[in-house]
Amino acid sequence: MDDGRVLVTGGAGFLGSHLCDRLVAEDHDVLCVDNYFTGTKRNVEALLRTPLFELMRHDVTFPLYVEVDQIYNLACPASPIHYQFDPVQTTKTSVHGAINMLGLAKRVKARILQASTSEVYGDPEVHPQVESYWGRVNPIGPRSCYDEGKRCAETLFFDYWRQHKLDIKVVRIFNTYGPRMHPNDGRVVSNFIVQALKGEPITIFGDGQQTRSFCYVDDLIEAMVRMMHSRQGFTGPVNIGNPGEFTMLELAELVLRLSGSKSRMEFKPLPHDDPRQRQPDISLAAEELGWKPTVPLEDGLKETIGYFRRIISE
Ligand code: NAD
Ligand code: UDP
Ligand code: UDP
Repeated sequence: MDDGRVLVTGGAGFLGSHLCDRLVAEDHDVLCVDNYFTGTKRNVEALLRTPLFELMRHDVTFPLYVEVDQIYNLACPASPIHYQFDPVQTTKTSVHGAINMLGLAKRVKARILQASTSEVYGDPEVHPQVESYWGRVNPIGPRSCYDEGKRCAETLFFDYWRQHKLDIKVVRIFNTYGPRMHPNDGRVVSNFIVQALKGEPITIFGDGQQTRSFCYVDDLIEAMVRMMHSRQGFTGPVNIGNPGEFTMLELAELVLRLSGSKSRMEFKPLPHDDPRQRQPDISLAAEELGWKPTVPLEDGLKETIGYFRRIISE
């Protein structure tokens, strides 16, 4: 398939900027659209030197008229402190953003991929999570603007597929980490690393026995690109993430060891609606995309610690 021109919404963010790097490295013509709510121009600074890359300030809740062949729809704040800052805008970004990007895909007949999330499973009673599981999501809590917004975006994708025969692809991303995560976004990996490097206490929420599965960003981007190029008619949703499951205490110990930090651990209350466990079942991705993650947590953490060391010392 000739990729032609590729639109990446949220392209100045953490995952989006890595995706733009990858697409430009493969000689694609990339249009990056972002309103810089959580993303920064700095994340894509190096790409501005190539004419293959174009950067546009735009909010996806407003219509966008451009001519492209593929769309990766990533625009949406992803961490609780950012998406809860203006919850109404978060829902608008997911829902109006999806409508606008689907309308665009319909007009220009582009293939469109949605960056959905494991949060559509909520606090799951099925473990590990398979794509056929419908989830257990609170519709009225502080996380709902994100979780329900992303669920509604999936609904819109599948309705445009059924109703307008759009060529859609939906990936459900599980916790991903790596360089260019926001230092202050409250996510566990960035929090622990920044705290360890500054010698501040490592904040463990609850008893630290809750688990998460962490995927390194390079593995994630590989899966997204494979999904975009997957066979005609394969829509997903497909889980992408790393099934290696760790408790937050194990993660804290690993970060302390790898950074050589002497920080102590400090226990804090568990946030509202915080899922106890989350782990992807990635058999569908293995079968359809021939993909599995390859970067062990320890290696990915070393890269990420190196990145934070650099930005903290600036
Ligand atoms: P991020 O906050 O770094 O990136 C999101 C980008 O979208 C930012 O650059 C932000 O400025 C931009 N944006 C936000 N609202 C916008 C709007 N209305 N119009 C235009 N741009 C807007 O987050 P990320 O971790 O890179 O996440 C990217 C996507 O992946 C999101 O859709 C997120 O829901 C999804 N996702 C991420 C993870 C993860 O672990 N990082 C997990 C599941 C899903
Ligand atoms: N849209 C857009 N760019 C386009 C085409 C459409 O942003 O190139 C927006 C348009 O503003 C509309 C939305 O996408 O609100 C949905 O478009 P669609 O054609 O599906 O619906 P309709 O225009 O009939 O409401
Ligand atoms: N967490 C923690 N200390 C922190 C930040 C987060 O113990 O400083 C916990 C949090 O309660 C959750 C897990 O780490 O159980 C993952 O949190 P994150 O916000 O990174 O991701 P999500 O909850 O969206 O999976």
